[in-house]
This record gives sequence, C-alpha cells and structure tokens, in this order.
Amino acid sequence: MLYVVVNCPRCGGLMLAKTVHRTRSCPHCGYRAELRGLRVLGRADSPREAVALIQALKERSTGKKR
Ligand SMILES: [Zn+2]
Repeated sequence: MLYVVVNCPRCGGLMLAKTVHRTRSCPHCGYRAELRGLRVLGRADSPREAVALIQALKERSTGKKR
C-alpha cells in the first residue's frame, strides 16, 4: 500500500491519503479534494513511514529559521 501526503487546496493543511483512493476528505476543514489535482509532498510505503513524513513536513512548514 502506498500513501501520499498532500496539501489541502482549501485550508492548506497536510493530509495523508492512500493512493488507491481518488478523493480524500480533509481532516482539518472537511473539504473533499481530488487527489489527482494535488501536489504530492511526499510518499510512503507504510502508515508509520507516512506519519513520520507528515511530522517532518510539519516541522519544516512551521517556520524554523533557516
Ligand atoms: Zn482542509
């Protein structure tokens, strides 16, 4: 099973989706996004890997000083 991490087009929040699904409801705002149109931020092969990936992306986006 493959997972992708994408940005919600409505609220910009990170969400995890299985690639077998065509759409995914955003856990933050409830928007139902079509996965094909979204930019994939990362991919993972296991749920654990996917969670770690989301954590890493969150840390990156919450404004650490460069
Ligand atoms: Zn959202």
